[in-house]
Amino acid sequence: MPAEATMREPERLIALDRYDILDTPAEEAFDRITRLTRRIFDVPMSTITLIDGHRQWFKSRAGIAACETARGPALCNVAIREHRALIVPDTLEDPRFAANAFVVGDPGIRFYAGVPLLTPEGHGIGTLCAMDTRPRSFLDDQIDTLTDLGRIVMSELELRLLAMTDGLTGTLSRRAFREEFSRAFALAHRHRHDLSCIMIDLDHFKSVNDRHGHAIGDVVLAAATAACREELRKSDAFGRMGGEEFAVLLPYTSLPSALRVAEKLRAAIADQRTPTPDGPLQVTASFGVAALDGATTEMDALLQNADAALYAAKHEGRNRCRAADPVETAGPATRRRVLKAGQISFDGGRCAIDCTVRSLSDESASLKIGTTIGLPETFKLLIAADGLSRRCRIVTRAEQMLDVAFV
Ligand code: GH3
Ligand code: MG
Ligand code: MG
Repeated sequence: MPAEATMREPERLIALDRYDILDTPAEEAFDRITRLTRRIFDVPMSTITLIDGHRQWFKSRAGIAACETARGPALCNVAIREHRALIVPDTLEDPRFAANAFVVGDPGIRFYAGVPLLTPEGHGIGTLCAMDTRPRSFLDDQIDTLTDLGRIVMSELELRLLAMTDGLTGTLSRRAFREEFSRAFALAHRHRHDLSCIMIDLDHFKSVNDRHGHAIGDVVLAAATAACREELRKSDAFGRMGGEEFAVLLPYTSLPSALRVAEKLRAAIADQRTPTPDGPLQVTASFGVAALDGATTEMDALLQNADAALYAAKHEGRNRCRAADPVETAGPATRRRVLKAGQISFDGGRCAIDCTVRSLSDESASLKIGTTIGLPETFKLLIAADGLSRRCRIVTRAEQMLDVAFV
């Protein structure tokens, strides 16, 4: 990968993650576009491809059997780096692709036309492409048509993102937050990772509205959430649970760390001053914090624990953070949730397999790969963006997930 692309890769993966689209079922809205692409250009294959850290995954595929393949040889991988349409009239005539596994092997791509799916910030998260097993030419107006179809894919993804967020504060809608929470909860429960949640309720907000009017109340709400967002990581989920009640989900975060985050949020809100005709207005909020423990088996139980702690914080005088009653914690040392492209290397560097690093601490990591079959018990993990190279030992191994300890 070129150096510049390596630098931007972590942000690109975070941008992709925001759409929450990987590994979701096929959907008519996207299948319609690949069907149209096949028909308009009279090609046998079309895909909507998303480029994860270690694989290309097809949100929609027409005329292709596999639902994902390795990232390395993917032609789409080249298209997202170019940031413009990639047209290859005959792959066998192109030195970049003549020996490519998908050209000389299945599905035998001879013609490739792909347009990158670009986020508003300019990250190439995937492609819409048209492919044939015979060489062909592609005219400029056909490129324009494919580009327009690619933009339709992107606006579909953007619209979904909008529907998931609350208009006033930009936080996740209650429904989107709960969906995110249930996924994270299931993972943390299964893999015994840390997971914490913070419930937030603004103090005496009714009187803010009564004194200054609903419009000022709205400005205060937006300012308070903006101040919180500054303190949160991109991997945290921040949702509006109701009027002036919010929740934060902190993956890979223990109770003491979550309490520190809550304290930062508390200070950030209390430090805000919203200008009003009656002078600067200060508001405060109360916080309840709870963490996943061996005894919590339901996501709603965790939310209720945080809610109970919030109630205690209100009761004790507001503008403070309270932890849910301590319960024994389970699981290994906290790992940060990250999204990084990595490489597993073994056999003295002769074998290299791409992976996506999902979490990372000083001592361990969890990795997602195409398949864990055939991997040796120890190998080297390389993360180019961090300049990291560590020897690893496998601790647990599932079909596509690995927990490793650094040795
Ligand atoms: P406390 O939580 O400290 O016990 O007091 P409170 O006054 O905040 O109590 P409560 O939770 O009962 O009241 C919430 C108020 O928040 C009521 C409602 O008018 C206001 N509110 C809810 N949603 C919005 C909104 O979108 N905009 C504005 N301006 N106000 C809202
Ligand atoms: Mg309330
Ligand atoms: Mg309140």
